[in-house]
Amino acid sequence: MTQKAKTQAVTRATFDEVMVPNYAPGSFIPVRGKGARVWDQSDKEYVDFAGGIAVSSVGHANPEVVQALTEQAGKLWHVANVLANEPAIRLALKLCELTFAERVFFANSGAEANEAALKLARRYACDHFPKSDTPEGKLESDKVEIISFTDSFHGRTLFTVTVGGQPKYSQGFGPVIPGITHLPFNDLNAVARQISAKTCAVIVEPIQGESGVLPATPAFLKGLRDLCNQHSALLIFDEVQSGAARTGPLFAYMDCAVTPDILTSAKGLGGGFPIGAMLTTEKIAKSFNVGVHGSTYGGNPLGCAVALAVLNIITAPSTRANIVARTEQLRTGMQTLNAKHKLFTDIRASGLWFGCELMPKWHGRAKEFVKMAEKHGLMILVAGTNVIRLAPSLLITAEDVALGLTCFDAVLADMIATEATAATAPAVTTQ
Ligand SMILES: *Cc1c(COP(=O)(O)O)cnc(C)c1O
Repeated sequence: MTQKAKTQAVTRATFDEVMVPNYAPGSFIPVRGKGARVWDQSDKEYVDFAGGIAVSSVGHANPEVVQALTEQAGKLWHVANVLANEPAIRLALKLCELTFAERVFFANSGAEANEAALKLARRYACDHFPKSDTPEGKLESDKVEIISFTDSFHGRTLFTVTVGGQPKYSQGFGPVIPGITHLPFNDLNAVARQISAKTCAVIVEPIQGESGVLPATPAFLKGLRDLCNQHSALLIFDEVQSGAARTGPLFAYMDCAVTPDILTSAKGLGGGFPIGAMLTTEKIAKSFNVGVHGSTYGGNPLGCAVALAVLNIITAPSTRANIVARTEQLRTGMQTLNAKHKLFTDIRASGLWFGCELMPKWHGRAKEFVKMAEKHGLMILVAGTNVIRLAPSLLITAEDVALGLTCFDAVLADMIATEATAATAPAVTTQ
């Protein structure tokens, strides 16, 4: 780093000068946070209803997590997977204790956890359902097909964008990985028609996040489980966004009486520290034997120490109670705002995770609400172009929910007022 780079004041404009233009961040730069509040470079305060896209599960600068991180930082940062480390073993133990899992693989992100899950499903098929004429020493199977769903999101690696059900993310990167079919979400008949002995896995988000916090029906998930059993396909739940207590239970599958064969977690698991995890059974895990898959940073001691601290907090009964109480408060508050402003056709909530569907008149304009929210000191998210998404800290206080709702009220009023002004403004005449 040059001396200039170290001391130069950086602004939002600097971002555009030095960053690859794949993001279009908001106009302010946050510099610190505490709980569900954030401050920008000019010390303006914001209520954080976005939670870094369902990542900041325990709020900003959570003291217990800061302590776990700094304690570990003074001990051991990294050894790579040529050696085991205590935080990773402890975290895996805890995840196995709390879920269906018997084995855990750590990654650094949701996409990598899914990449591992999809590779494992294909490898498992090679091990258990090999081609009859596979030459000695080769691993081949006809059981390679993966069923996924329209509008799903599974990450941005080439495999995961191909499996994801949003063509805009996989276009222009061809040739893509073959053997993947996308079916309508919640359409069990479509799956029943498509699934066969050639299917190695079905991957589904129990609640689709990026497409607007849309839940799978319990009958759909149960039906997928039965179909996977009948056709010896693995059922993968992508709980990267729905997990880590976002909906209340540690993972959403726990509330729907369907157990997957593989589950992926990330986002809220690290509370802001990059970590992902793939959970599975002992039998399936065997297909990832020594050398078959890996990651330099996966299971890094810092990330695992942080996730362990996060896990302790998000599984505490007091947190579960807060999720329930704040969900009710936010739901009621949003409904009251909507009764007043009439902007949404639907306000869906799965725990502290909201999808507010804009009226047709406002379709395509969700991002404008995010911009308006900045002005009023509120951080919110979109999901697509028609849905406003909220995913605040699971520890958010009643006071912060109330303050956020007050800001939201001003945002909605300002959107309507701006629209009205634009509609009545005299037409600009050009000569
Ligand atoms: C965010 C997300 C991912 C990708 O996670 P990254 O950490 O961005 O790679 C995968 N699946 C779902 C459901 C997600 O919400």
